Amino acid sequence: MMIVVMKRDATRAQVERVKEEARRFDLSPIEMPGDERMIVALKGDERKVTTGRFKSLQGVSDVLPILKKYKMASRDTKWKDTIVDLGDGIKIGGAQQVVMAGPCTIENEQQLRCSAKAVHKEGVRIVRGGAYKPRTSPYAFQGLGLKGLQMIRAVADELGMKVITELMDIRKIDEVCRYADIIQIGARNMQNYDLLTELGKCGKPVMIKRGLSATLEEFLLAAEYIVSEGNTNVILCERGIRTFETEVRFTLNLGVVPILKTLTHLPIIIDPSHAMGRREYVTDMALAALAVGAHGIIVEVHCKPEEALCDGPQSLTPEMFTNLMDRAEKISAAVDMPLIRVKKVKSRK
Ligand code: PEP
Ligand code: MN
Repeated sequence: MMIVVMKRDATRAQVERVKEEARRFDLSPIEMPGDERMIVALKGDERKVTTGRFKSLQGVSDVLPILKKYKMASRDTKWKDTIVDLGDGIKIGGAQQVVMAGPCTIENEQQLRCSAKAVHKEGVRIVRGGAYKPRTSPYAFQGLGLKGLQMIRAVADELGMKVITELMDIRKIDEVCRYADIIQIGARNMQNYDLLTELGKCGKPVMIKRGLSATLEEFLLAAEYIVSEGNTNVILCERGIRTFETEVRFTLNLGVVPILKTLTHLPIIIDPSHAMGRREYVTDMALAALAVGAHGIIVEVHCKPEEALCDGPQSLTPEMFTNLMDRAEKISAAVDMPLIRVKKVKSRK
């Protein structure tokens, strides 16, 4: 892999010329537009070609080999933070923090609407909820599937929200892409490489969760699978790793935030719910995640957690969520990454 840095004033024709030359050597060119100049990443076996070949083309400023194992996800390739734009002014990444919230699983319309409204009321505009669930036991509730996807889309549209929902199976990719605004790849699928490659081609933003015992390098290489297929709208999510500790579900590794921020330009989201496993611990760690500079959090909220079909013990009640949001706003301001919280609109009635 190498990158071709174009001159500031390079023309479209000159960029096309670089891409054409790349294809002649069986390299796939991927455009990575920056604010000031275009970068063209060349994917494939570059041993067959000398960098001089590209350096001599018009409009080319520099040609650099990328030595990191993950390349397009690396800050070496793209210095500026990636900001994933979901439309309607909702963005993830850069110098702001975002909250995604909702139930673990879509159970029925009433439950989903209640939880979605509760988080919407607090200014959240991205609702979570699984229709396809990776359950540890084959006897546990597996999710509502297509019916659930239709439900969450309808409720989100009613409220003017975006949807994040999990994709587990490559055969459902078109279905989930149709209903979701962000595709979630669960921790258990982080290394499902066929699935990741396909997602590169789907065009929808993807949030990939760190595997239960994946190293950061493995995590970034998983993201690389998606980015290197041309989908640069990738969000990383730390959700706790497996350690010797048994007091919590997983050990939430907030130390990855400053590390990932130096290694990659991709946004980093923290999931304190699946890590802590119990609601009384979730708020503190959610606030800590914002304090350490994550680009946001994803939190499970349920109107009646005691009746939840999945992950009830770790789901916040709407009251707890209100308290979290009020405190989150202060932390975000303190770390100079303002919280995206859509101002409460007063009802006309
Ligand atoms: C989830 O977000 O509901 C989930 C199953 O998370 P993870 O893949 O991190 O376990
Ligand atoms: Mn869950």
